[in-house]
Amino acid sequence: MPLSDRMIAMLRCPVCGGALGPVDREFVCSNSACARPYPVIRGIPLLANDATGIYQRDDFVGAEQALQAGASARSLGARIRKVTPSISNGDVTFAANMRTLVAALGTDEPGRPATILCIGTAADAEVIRSLLVGRALELVHMATRPGTAHSDIFCDPRRWPFADNAADAVVMRGVLHRSLHVAEVAGEGVRVLRVGGLV
Ligand SMILES: [Zn+2]
Repeated sequence: MPLSDRMIAMLRCPVCGGALGPVDREFVCSNSACARPYPVIRGIPLLANDATGIYQRDDFVGAEQALQAGASARSLGARIRKVTPSISNGDVTFAANMRTLVAALGTDEPGRPATILCIGTAADAEVIRSLLVGRALELVHMATRPGTAHSDIFCDPRRWPFADNAADAVVMRGVLHRSLHVAEVAGEGVRVLRVGGLV
């Protein structure tokens, strides 16, 4: 889904932390000492540092082209999933937990919807999205590997492209146990969360 102006204002450069603004068909860091451009691939901004990420821009572009052609993307992610444990048998519990989360969320600032940042699978984001109808809540789903359909943003899980205190809730499932950088990923979840926010 296209990002709202409110969410775009909370985007930050994953390299220097500068604000990001949409310029033509890409996002550009507003810090003149950095000024890095970030591409938008089939409507999804790729807000990751090519120099340090596991995946590079070409991986995301190739996977999106494969998806568009109806092919399943060849992905390093598939190989990573093969060698790490699965915890995907808790879907009923997950849906119930998300219902509880959505019911508990709100803001005391009139006109500001509560923000949920979800990192992980698009299916998890869809579960949450289905619960948001009629609620003043906004969801942004971050995908961390190429070929993930229906994402809002592609990013490196070690550097979430958001300002501090951007989220009222953070949802991550199937992320930490797949990562070699657990402390960094979890630290990002804490950094973007408002005081009193929910994880
Ligand atoms: Zn920058």
